[in-house]
Amino acid sequence: MNPRRLALIALLFAAVAAYYAFDLGRYLSLDFFKSQQAAIETWRAAQPAKAALAYFLIYVAITGLSLPGALVMTLAGGAVFGLLWGTVLISFASTAGATLAFLVSRFLLRDWVQLRFGERLRAIDAGVEREGGFYLFTLRLVPVFPFFVINLLMGLTAIRTRTFYWVSQAGMLLGTIVYVNAGTQLAKIESLSGILSPALVASFALLGVFPLVAKKITEHLRKKKVYAGWKKPRRFERNLIVIGGGSAGLVAAYIAAAVKAKVTLVEKHKLGGDCLNTGCVPSKALIRSAKLLSHMRRSGEFGIREAKAEFDFADVMERVQRVIRTVEPHDSIERYTGLGVDVVEGTAKIISPWEVEITRNDGTVQRLTTRSIVIAAGARPFVPPIPGIEEVGYLTSDSVWELRRLPRRMVVLGGGPIGSELTQTFARLGAQVTQVEMAPRILIREDPEVSDLVTQRFRAEGVEVLVNHRAKQFVVEGGERILIAEYDGRDVRIPFDAVLVAVGRVANLKGYGIEQLGIPAGRTVETNEFLQTSFPNIYAAGDVAGPYQFTHTAGHQAWYAAVNALFDPLKKFRADYSVIPWATFVEPEAARVGLNEIEAKERAIAYEVTRYGIDDLDRAIADGEAHGFVKILTVPGKDRILGVTIVGEHAGDLIAEYVLAMRHGIGLNKILGTIHIYPTLAEANKYAAGAWKKAHAPQKLLEWVARFHSWRRG
Ligand SMILES: Cc1cc2nc3c(=O)[nH]c(=O)nc-3n(C[C@H](O)[C@H](O)[C@H](O)COP(=O)(O)OP(=O)(O)OC[C@H]3O[C@@H](n4cnc5c(N)ncnc54)[C@H](O)[C@@H]3O)c2cc1C
Repeated sequence: MNPRRLALIALLFAAVAAYYAFDLGRYLSLDFFKSQQAAIETWRAAQPAKAALAYFLIYVAITGLSLPGALVMTLAGGAVFGLLWGTVLISFASTAGATLAFLVSRFLLRDWVQLRFGERLRAIDAGVEREGGFYLFTLRLVPVFPFFVINLLMGLTAIRTRTFYWVSQAGMLLGTIVYVNAGTQLAKIESLSGILSPALVASFALLGVFPLVAKKITEHLRKKKVYAGWKKPRRFERNLIVIGGGSAGLVAAYIAAAVKAKVTLVEKHKLGGDCLNTGCVPSKALIRSAKLLSHMRRSGEFGIREAKAEFDFADVMERVQRVIRTVEPHDSIERYTGLGVDVVEGTAKIISPWEVEITRNDGTVQRLTTRSIVIAAGARPFVPPIPGIEEVGYLTSDSVWELRRLPRRMVVLGGGPIGSELTQTFARLGAQVTQVEMAPRILIREDPEVSDLVTQRFRAEGVEVLVNHRAKQFVVEGGERILIAEYDGRDVRIPFDAVLVAVGRVANLKGYGIEQLGIPAGRTVETNEFLQTSFPNIYAAGDVAGPYQFTHTAGHQAWYAAVNALFDPLKKFRADYSVIPWATFVEPEAARVGLNEIEAKERAIAYEVTRYGIDDLDRAIADGEAHGFVKILTVPGKDRILGVTIVGEHAGDLIAEYVLAMRHGIGLNKILGTIHIYPTLAEANKYAAGAWKKAHAPQKLLEWVARFHSWRRG
C-alpha cells in the first residue's frame, strides 16, 4: 500500500481510537450539553468568532470521521447560535465534513472496491451517471438513511466531488433547519427520538420522492417536446409495425403475434435477412464443404493413405443455396402468416411517429397507423473509399455467394470474424488467399494467444496472413489487378484475381424516415437501455442498433424491443447485455463469453487465469483435434466466472456450459461437481474447472490430512 494511504489510515485510526479510548462521546450527549449550556453560551457571548470557529471545526471533525454525535451537535448549534447562524454554520460544516468523509472513502477504498467488485461497481456508476444528483438528493432529503453511510458509499461511486458537495448541501438544508430550530427549543427536548414526529418523517419522505416525481415530469415534458408538431391518431390500425424481416425483425414480429397484438412485418428484400441469405447460414454451409476438403487433405493423419476430392466449385456454391432453401421455411411468409403476423413484401418508411408508408413490391402504396414501431433494418458491408477500389471491382459478404468460379488468387481485406472465416474457407477450396489486416494481428478483439493459434493454422494451410498492412490503393497494370498496401513505411504489391472486402459492417440508417423525424443516429440508431429511440414509441433492435452484430443478440434485443413496445408504460425491461457469447467459426474455432484478459485489464478488473490445454483431452486426441485451450478468468480467490475463451474443435458448442453458468451465477466448483460424459470434448470444461480447484486446494489442510493418514497407517 502506498505510504500516503498508510499514513491516512493511521491518522484516522488514532482519531477514532482516541474518541473511544477517552470516551469523548460523553461530551456529545444531550444531558452533558444541557448541563454545560449556560457556560457555553457565556463563552460564545464573550468570544463569538472563536466560538463559531471552534464549533465549526468540531462539527467537521465529527462528520468527517463518521463519528456519532452530529445530531446533538446540530441541536446544540441551534441552542447556542440561534436559527439563522446555527443553520449557516451547520449547513457548511456538515457539508464540509460529509465531503471529507466522501473523499477519504474514495481515496482509501475506491481502488480496492474497483479491483474486487469492478464489474458491479460499473453498473452502480452507470446508475449514478444517469441519476447522479437526483439520486443523492433523494437520499439526503429522507432522514431515514444515515448520512455517514451515504458519504462513504458515494465515495465509492464515480459521482464528481463538486456534484456531491452542492447536492449534499442543498439536500441537507431542510433537515438542518428542522433540527436547528428544534435546538433553539432545547430545554423542551427530553430525548433525541422525540424530535421527529411521524408526520414530519412522512413529509420528509414526500420531499424525498419529489425529485423522482420531478424526473417523471421532466421525462413527460421531454416526450411532449419530441412529439410536438406531430398529430397523434385517435385510433391505431396496428399495435406494432416492424421494419425489416431479418433476425431481429422476425423475433419482434413473432413475440407480438404470440401475445396477440396486431403486427405488420415489412421486408423489402428477403425474409430471413442477412443471416439466412448472405450471412451465418451460407457461410457455415460453405465452411462445412471446406472442412471436408481439409479433412481429406489430412487423411494421412487418420491412417488413410489417400483420399482424393474431385469437385466443382459451382456445385459447392449450389449446395450453399440448397442449404439456404432448406432453412428458408423457418423464416417464410407462410410460417409467419400462420403465426398471426401480417407479412408485407415492400419498403417501409416512417412518415410520422405513428404512421408508416409501405411501398409494396407490386408498386401499390399503403399507409398504416401504429402505436409502436420497431426498426430492424440491419447493416451492410462497409466498403472503405480506397482509391481504385471501384475500378478493380470487389466482392463483399453480400455478393460473394454469387461466385461460381473459384478465383485463383484472392485477397481478403479484413482480419475480423467474417474476413477470417472466408479466408480459411476459400483457401481450403483451393484459392491462393492473402489476408490483409492493418492491425498487428487478426481477430484483434480476442486475446493474443487466440490470434496466434488461428494465424499459425492459417499459415500452415497456405494462407498468407499480412498484418500491419494498410490497404492504400488498387491499380490495374498490364491487365493485372494489384493491391498496394503500406507496411512499415514501404509499399507492398499484392496481385490478385478477386478481392473480398470484409472490414466491418455499417448500420442501414437511410431511406426509411429516421432522418426526416430527426431520430439521432451516429454509427447506429441511438437507443436507450429500453431500446427506445428519441421517440419513445419507436424502438430499434439488431445490427441497426448495435453494439453487437450477431444473430443471437439481434433476437435478444428484439424480445426487449417488442415487449417494451407493446407494454410500455405498464412495464418496461432494460436490455440485459451481461452475458453475451459469440464464436468465430474458423479452425480452430474460437468462442468467448464475458471478459477476456484484454478487457479485464482495460477495465482494471482483478482476475485469475485458469487454463486447460485441449491437447491433453482423450477425445480430442482420438479425434485428431488435440489442440486449443479453455481459458477461464475468475474473481481472485473465488470460483465466480468473469469470462471464458475456448479455442478448439466445437468451441462454439462447448462454451454453452459457461454461458449457462455465468447467466445463473454457477461457479467452477459446481461445474467440477457435474458428471460429463466420457469421452467427449465437453470434458474439457470439467478439467478446466478441476485445474482451478487444484490451484486453490487448501495446502495447509492437506498437510494435516496427510498426517492423519500416516497416523492411520500406524
Ligand atoms: C458473412 C456473415 C457471417 C455471419 N455469421 C454469423 C454467425 O455465425 N453468427 C451470428 O450470430 N451472426 C453472424 N453474422 C451476423 C448476422 O448475420 C447479423 O448480426 C444478423 O443477421 C442481424 O440481423 P438484423 O435483423 O439486425 O439485420 P438483417 O438480417 O440485416 O435484417 C434487416 C432486414 O431489414 C430489411 N430492410 C431494411 N430496410 C428496410 C425497409 N425500409 N423496409 C423494409 N425492409 C427493410 C433488409 O432487407 C433486411 O432483410 C454474420 C454476418 C455475415 C455477413
